[in-house]
Amino acid sequence: MQDRAIRSIVIVGGGTAGWMAAAALAKVAGTQNRSITLVESEEIGTVGVGEATIPPITIFNRLLGIDEDEFVRETQATFKLGIEFVDWLRVGHRYFHHFGLFGADLKDGVSFAHYWLRWVGQGGNPDNLRFSSEAEAARMGKFARARTKRGDTPNINYAFQFDAARYAAFLRRFAEKRGVERVEGKVVDVQQNGESGHIESVELAGGKRIEGDFFIDCSGFRALLIGKTLGCPFDDWSQWLLANGAVAMPSRRDGDPEPFTRVTAVESGWQWHIPLQHRTGNGYVFCDRFITPDDAAAKLAGRLGDTALADPRILRFTAGQRRSWEKNCLAIGLSCGFLEPLESTSIHLIQVAISKLLDLFPDRDFHPAILDRFNKEMDLLYVSIRDFLIAHYKLTEREDTPFWRYCKHMDVPDSLATKLHLFETRGEVLAADHDIFREISWFAVLYGQGVVPKGYHPLADAMSDDDLSLTLSQIRAAIRERVDSLPSHAQFLDSIVGR
Ligand SMILES: Cc1cc2nc3c(=O)[nH]c(=O)nc-3n(C[C@H](O)[C@H](O)[C@H](O)COP(=O)(O)OP(=O)(O)OC[C@H]3O[C@@H](n4cnc5c(N)ncnc54)[C@H](O)[C@@H]3O)c2cc1C
Repeated sequence: MQDRAIRSIVIVGGGTAGWMAAAALAKVAGTQNRSITLVESEEIGTVGVGEATIPPITIFNRLLGIDEDEFVRETQATFKLGIEFVDWLRVGHRYFHHFGLFGADLKDGVSFAHYWLRWVGQGGNPDNLRFSSEAEAARMGKFARARTKRGDTPNINYAFQFDAARYAAFLRRFAEKRGVERVEGKVVDVQQNGESGHIESVELAGGKRIEGDFFIDCSGFRALLIGKTLGCPFDDWSQWLLANGAVAMPSRRDGDPEPFTRVTAVESGWQWHIPLQHRTGNGYVFCDRFITPDDAAAKLAGRLGDTALADPRILRFTAGQRRSWEKNCLAIGLSCGFLEPLESTSIHLIQVAISKLLDLFPDRDFHPAILDRFNKEMDLLYVSIRDFLIAHYKLTEREDTPFWRYCKHMDVPDSLATKLHLFETRGEVLAADHDIFREISWFAVLYGQGVVPKGYHPLADAMSDDDLSLTLSQIRAAIRERVDSLPSHAQFLDSIVGR
């Protein structure tokens, strides 16, 4: 049999995407039988603002065999239990998108939300967060990873908030230790095979060429290989996701870091607040049809006052997606698309692309069915996140600024309109297997944004009123007991970082 194995992989770009890909490939595919080269340009630099993550990042860490405490120390990380949304529905309102379960899995195929809706309809307390350990712990500033004594209660679900530059540096050390070769330089040209159009090499300023069998484009918004060289078009979604810029500005730590990210709706977009160990990450995500980048920077600087640690940094982007895999080039990270950081999904999308790559690892034939499968699965994922993000804007009651008026009255994609209608009617979401955000997340956000379903799943009526009331009070008591037993997030962090 002819040897068609990939012997050389070239990764262009050393941001979070490039180093996550390099680290995972070095760990899983290894560098004994193939070379892995990463080219990056210090002169160009990285986006460097991806600071908040979602729980599957813990799976990525486990894949790499990373010691989590070391990871927390090295990246100045804090733990994250969800996202607090402030002023999204109306000014003064807040809700929480928590990780983990809502209530409990009652193992009868009907999700807890429906029992809870029935109970609220009968006069129960409408505060859904009382039935989430993660939301309650966040509310009380508590956190621990450890399992409780009760075997039937799941672990607290968490993710991290970390310093993006330190994360990339951490992964770089990991990857280089396992044989990844890093080349400093700026790619100025790309050579393609005249017949197949496959990429054969990239050329750096100064003339050095790096050849490869397989190219991974992690060049960020530039999309050097997948966009500029191979011409994969970009599908622009900015009619629904208007934001096209952000101002980032770190500030001094304000008290003990909270175990959650806060996102506050402001005049022409929203502002993030991400507490780390050594500082707080802040940013104003805006749409320049409604505010100029300079005005957004001034607003953010004004709100941070003398706690700001650096000058504002302005980043520009467009929401949308392009095909991930074309010929012998796979795009991972910002080169294949961008969805604004409201639900911290970009790093997760990198992780999903890497895990799909390992799953469908190609040989030099780059079988079209493999590429097709990869691209279709990524498309579904992007669209489902896009719809989830749009719902946050569409469901506002705000009309106090032109930005929010636009959001409230905009048309939404049919796929989202159907979902919203079903939720309003009977609290149902119908998440698909590939969705990152399942029923519990949709419920937290749609209910949080003021949609109270008119009905619930018919089978939630099967339980007697007494059993329903008893079951809910037992679940609530277990959550209380468990959250009460947790240390504060600051204490837990101290036990890891040893201060
Ligand atoms: C405002 C904002 C906030 C964000 N917040 C979050 C968040 O909270 N959570 C989250 O999950 N994600 C977030 N993201 C997304 C996240 O930052 C990115 O997904 C992540 O950093 C990956 O970026 P990247 O590696 O694809 O690109 P980049 O970081 O831009 O890296 C590109 C790399 O390519 C190199 N390169 C480019 N051109 C060349 C060339 N010609 N030659 C050589 N090298 C080249 C650069 O030097 C760099 O090393 C945010 C993004 C933005 C814009």
